[in-house]
Amino acid sequence: MEPPKFPSELRRDPHHGGWCVTTYHPEREAALNIPLADDPDSVPCAFCEGYETYTPPELAVVSPDSRRKPDSSGWQIRVVPNRLPTLTVEGVEEREGVGMFDRMRGVGAHEIVIESPRHSDRFSSFSIDRLSKILSVVQNRLLDLRKDIRMRYISACRLESPDSRGHLAHPHSQVVGSGATPPSLKTELASAREYYNYKERCLFCDILREEERSKDRLVASYETCVTVAPFASRFPFEVHILPRRHLHDFGLVPIEDLPGIAESLLDTCRRLDVVLPGWGRGLSLHTSPNTVPRHEYWRTIQQDYHWHIEIMPIPPRRQDWAELMGLPLCSVAPERAASALRNAPGLS
Ligand SMILES: [Zn+2]
Ligand SMILES: [Zn+2]
Ligand SMILES: [Zn+2]
Repeated sequence: MEPPKFPSELRRDPHHGGWCVTTYHPEREAALNIPLADDPDSVPCAFCEGYETYTPPELAVVSPDSRRKPDSSGWQIRVVPNRLPTLTVEGVEEREGVGMFDRMRGVGAHEIVIESPRHSDRFSSFSIDRLSKILSVVQNRLLDLRKDIRMRYISACRLESPDSRGHLAHPHSQVVGSGATPPSLKTELASAREYYNYKERCLFCDILREEERSKDRLVASYETCVTVAPFASRFPFEVHILPRRHLHDFGLVPIEDLPGIAESLLDTCRRLDVVLPGWGRGLSLHTSPNTVPRHEYWRTIQQDYHWHIEIMPIPPRRQDWAELMGLPLCSVAPERAASALRNAPGLS
């Protein structure tokens, strides 16, 4: 196989029309049980307080100490670039043809929000105050990354897997900016627009009203949000958090709404802990894409889309952030896969 031209790239899937990420990280391959020498538990957790120099330099921090030096202890929340970024800020998109196929450099951003200095803290046990601060940090990162118009879609997700070890078990979420909108989000945006074109009302505001009226799938009502098990749930115990204030963009949510959103999120997670002990959980923020590059195309998005959070309980097995974002991610380049299979003994 030729050496990879980019550390990661976006490839256009000619069958389905969407873009997929292909990466060339040996450690990502290792996660699929391709053996590597290092045991992730044998090194100190880079997300723990006291090990700040093990991460790339921090991008943002929440600290009670205004004189604290960057990348030292004494913080509450820290944002750092992912050490193994799936998508990187450097470079231009360089879209090119490869025979009949399309690909471009995997331009984007991949950041880690370390939600607590303590390794053993659990998300469901966070205070409303801590979670409000985390939401505010995510909001700021989103707004900052959006200044780069190569980033077509920026959002956040969080994965809690019961079998996570090492730094993956440390409470953290991920902010991901990508040069392509994930196909599942594209479909959701198109459905919302179609509904608005037909009814001149927001799909999500209508769902919120309907679920609160019928109460059949209502989990709880709060001052700022409603939580529902969606009518056509794709996973067992899927829950959506629908904010009452109609806004297409999480970046525009006023700071005074954040404690209410944090409360509904924590309350839902504690309920899920009781009903599904031992399960993992994926949280995914669904918000407006970057409307600057194609503002004509997004001309009704302020009315037709409505940001929300989707919660996917997961039975104990591995899942990836990219799956939560609906962005298909292939950790082994197809060329490597084909080569390994070619060289493996078959029937003859
Ligand atoms: Zn840790
Ligand atoms: Zn709405
Ligand atoms: Zn959604």
